[in-house]
Amino acid sequence: MYANAVVGNSIVTTIAGQSVTELAQKHGTPVFVYDAAVIAERIRDLAAFDAIRYAQKALSNIAILDLVRRHGVVVDAVSAGEVQRAIAAGYKPGHAHPPQIVYTADIFDRAALEIVAKYDLPVNCGSPDMIDQYGAICPGRGITLRINPGFGHGHSKKTNTGGQQSKHGIWHDQVADCAERAKRANLTITGMHMHIGSGTDLEHLSQVCGAMEKTCRLVGPTITSISAGGGLPTIYKPGDKYVDLAAYFKLWDATRQKLANEFGHAISLEIEPGRYLSAECGYLIAEIRAVKRMGENLFYIVDAGFNNLARPILYGSHHPMAICPADGSSAARGTQDAIIGGPLCESGDIFTQEEGGFVVSRELPTASVGDYLVIGCAGAYGYVMASNYNSKPLVAEVLVENGKANLVRAAQTFEDIVRGEVIPK
Ligand SMILES: *Cc1c(COP(=O)(O)O)cnc(C)c1O
Repeated sequence: MYANAVVGNSIVTTIAGQSVTELAQKHGTPVFVYDAAVIAERIRDLAAFDAIRYAQKALSNIAILDLVRRHGVVVDAVSAGEVQRAIAAGYKPGHAHPPQIVYTADIFDRAALEIVAKYDLPVNCGSPDMIDQYGAICPGRGITLRINPGFGHGHSKKTNTGGQQSKHGIWHDQVADCAERAKRANLTITGMHMHIGSGTDLEHLSQVCGAMEKTCRLVGPTITSISAGGGLPTIYKPGDKYVDLAAYFKLWDATRQKLANEFGHAISLEIEPGRYLSAECGYLIAEIRAVKRMGENLFYIVDAGFNNLARPILYGSHHPMAICPADGSSAARGTQDAIIGGPLCESGDIFTQEEGGFVVSRELPTASVGDYLVIGCAGAYGYVMASNYNSKPLVAEVLVENGKANLVRAAQTFEDIVRGEVIPK
């Protein structure tokens, strides 16, 4: 069930039981607000899997990591910084079953290699070179391989994670070679991983499962775990399809059972969601600072831009939007078609655009300066992609849990923005 309070073309006055106007007045705008109960609900949805490994790159505030940790979720880290975040949130490095932190990427940069060695972290290798590099620092360990099965899914060139155009993973016909490499590097291949993102396309997913079985057979019974990757979809607008989680699990479970029978021991099944856990919980509250007409078009210009939420400008992503009147009243109003723009000196700074950058308008309640725009489903790939463009500070983040709104990140100050800059003497 859709769990975000913003349904589109509506008035919204509370988020997770908290008053939007009070949140805005207390923390300033723009501000990100997250609803812990929604994350917990999404975690429960995936209880059938042996391990839920959160792809923290989607929303990585340490309070969020602490929250998912308390709900039994383990994590992925794609950089040295994400490893440090996980540890700061209470995760323990090491080779437990399942490991609490796994470094997963297509390369080790220098900082990542250093931190993996320091904490003896398990690694999911996305390129053959990583096998040799890991063997040199952690000989005797198990590794998992991220495989590109030779096909991907999805229409967006920027989000496709398989096939010849993708930079991700180890090409499927190099698995035998990687097994040799691993042996030479004194490593054992203990798991296989595919992150293709079939979403709601179960026929496509069964192809991925088939590719997983084939690849695992090439390595043999040292395999003790498989990972289905992430890519579980979130509903952003009416008409988006829900994933049939029971059918999704059934396909992966059958693959796991087949491999367990062939190998003669249990195979654990991991899933690795990012947006599925974190998208719906999030809101970006902005204030409308100008309402202006350009020929036929009406613009609401708000104080948030792509420095706060980049998905629309990057991918043409749709976010549900609602208005909260300045006085917090929920009385019905008429509607207008409006284009929503931000404050940045960049013509692409428009929240209502489609893939390819085509500007569109949105039917929204009639609003004036001082009213709030609430952008829904902004938890995943929102704050984590924010920038200081136009010398705008990173904004505050608030986590609402058990009826309490806690500030989990203070807004940056000017001093934070220029830290490290120097005028040469
Ligand atoms: C980004 C990523 C995920 C999460 O993707 P979502 O689409 O947010 O679920 C999972 N696994 C890997 C390896 C990733 O890079």
